[in-house]
Amino acid sequence: MQCQTVLPGTECTFWGKQGCIFSGGSCQTIVENCEGCERIVDGTIGKVCSAYPAPEKKWTSGICNFATHVKVEIKTEDLKVNPLKASKKAAGKKK
Ligand code: SF4
Repeated sequence: MQCQTVLPGTECTFWGKQGCIFSGGSCQTIVENCEGCERIVDGTIGKVCSAYPAPEKKWTSGICNFATHVKVEIKTEDLKVNPLKASKKAAGKKK
């Protein structure tokens, strides 16, 4: 249904007949780590995330997986490793 509070008219899975069913009954504003992300939109409560209602939670266990402005460094390093060698290494460890 369409949000009627923070982002009026925006289709949202959290909006139900009783209003917003997300915890606290509303989206939360973005956090410092979000600055620069393309998913930031202007809501009635300030800047909010178009991908997730609680941006702070997206950063509690590392980099937000929806973020457009930061690269996950670990993944880039993984790509440099030869996949065949990596799998042999992993297989060797199991023994
Ligand atoms: S996608 Fe992640 S980094 Fe971007 S605004 Fe949303 S919560 Fe913040």
